[in-house]
Amino acid sequence: MELDARYAMPTYGRAPVEFVRGEGARLWDADGKEYLDFFAGLSVHNAGHCHPLIVAAIRDQAERLGGASNLYYTEPAMRLCQRLAESSLGGKVFLCNSGTEANECAIKLVRKHAHLRGIETPEIVVLEGAFHGRTLGALAATPRLAREDLFGPLPAGFAPVPRDDPAALRAAVGERTAAVMIEPIQGEAGIFPIADEVLLAAREACDVAGALLVLDEIQSGMGRTGSLWAYEQLHVRPDVITVAKALGGGLPVGACVTTPELGEVLGRGDHGSTFAGAPIAAAAGLAALEVIDDPALLRGVRELGARFMQGLGALDAVAEVRGRGLMVGVTLADGLDSSAVAARALDQGLVINVPGPLMLRFLPPLIIGEEEVEAAHGIMARVLG
Ligand code: PLP
Repeated sequence: MELDARYAMPTYGRAPVEFVRGEGARLWDADGKEYLDFFAGLSVHNAGHCHPLIVAAIRDQAERLGGASNLYYTEPAMRLCQRLAESSLGGKVFLCNSGTEANECAIKLVRKHAHLRGIETPEIVVLEGAFHGRTLGALAATPRLAREDLFGPLPAGFAPVPRDDPAALRAAVGERTAAVMIEPIQGEAGIFPIADEVLLAAREACDVAGALLVLDEIQSGMGRTGSLWAYEQLHVRPDVITVAKALGGGLPVGACVTTPELGEVLGRGDHGSTFAGAPIAAAAGLAALEVIDDPALLRGVRELGARFMQGLGALDAVAEVRGRGLMVGVTLADGLDSSAVAARALDQGLVINVPGPLMLRFLPPLIIGEEEVEAAHGIMARVLG
């Protein structure tokens, strides 16, 4: 904590705990205290902490080859592209190192696609409440944080509309629209599933305008909602998805995935990254997909998620429960302080997150069982009682 205060830029609000070890859905702090982790490092450790398959894949690859750059071939990256494409839109993949980079790739791709259609100043329609990342393009697509006064000038060409108004969305899509970009369930906002009507309006409006539908699956993907990708449970099919977080099994991996028609919009020299697709990270990603892309595990996510949400909804202090699978948010009854509630839960050994005033967020590892759901529910009942 002293080193953090002295040497790290103070960009994070940290809870006063230092974690030193993890296994499955458990974490241990520097004093040896055990915690039940219902945050999974912000939906990164979906396969649980230190999953043996992922640890072995990392160790094995680290002992053979750490990298040789993207100017040569390495097998793990190509296998990861194959697995991502075959499990989703069937087109082509650009690998990168984070969620925000995956979205930067999607932004460049849809802009180039628009320029190829003769649009000189393309625009991307985004939803209020969205979170797409912190680099300048992704930040400009994140209305809540796109502070011109602090970080301007930000890239132009992003048009925010309310997240629950299909008519407003339809009206915002026009001749200049390159894409509509949507998180199927807004995560950072506090877990707000986007209504079917809004998603259908986006798909239809894009089809009429010749624009592309980009779904940001960075938080909702990798099994979080009980299917490998959240869009599998929706009535719309996107043209592009962006993926990251749990994709790297704990290492930094992101990806932008297209349909076959869009696989070659970005060509040689259009995009790149030194670390992208590095063999150790790609091997970890393949192992993470091996663990998570499992029908029995995904069924468990849907069943346990429904049970957990039902349990939370039965607590007097909970005003609303939202989510799908194990991507769960609650709004507390008026007068409660969500930060104080999360601090008390942490004290009782349960790690949860506060996405905003009155709100709590639960993103446990997907390998949890009934016992962990009961334990988390018990702690929440005590804390809120
Ligand atoms: N998009 C969504 C939906 C996210 O939840 C996040 C991170 O929370 C990002 C993009 C940015 O990802 P990263 O922090 O890996 O850059």
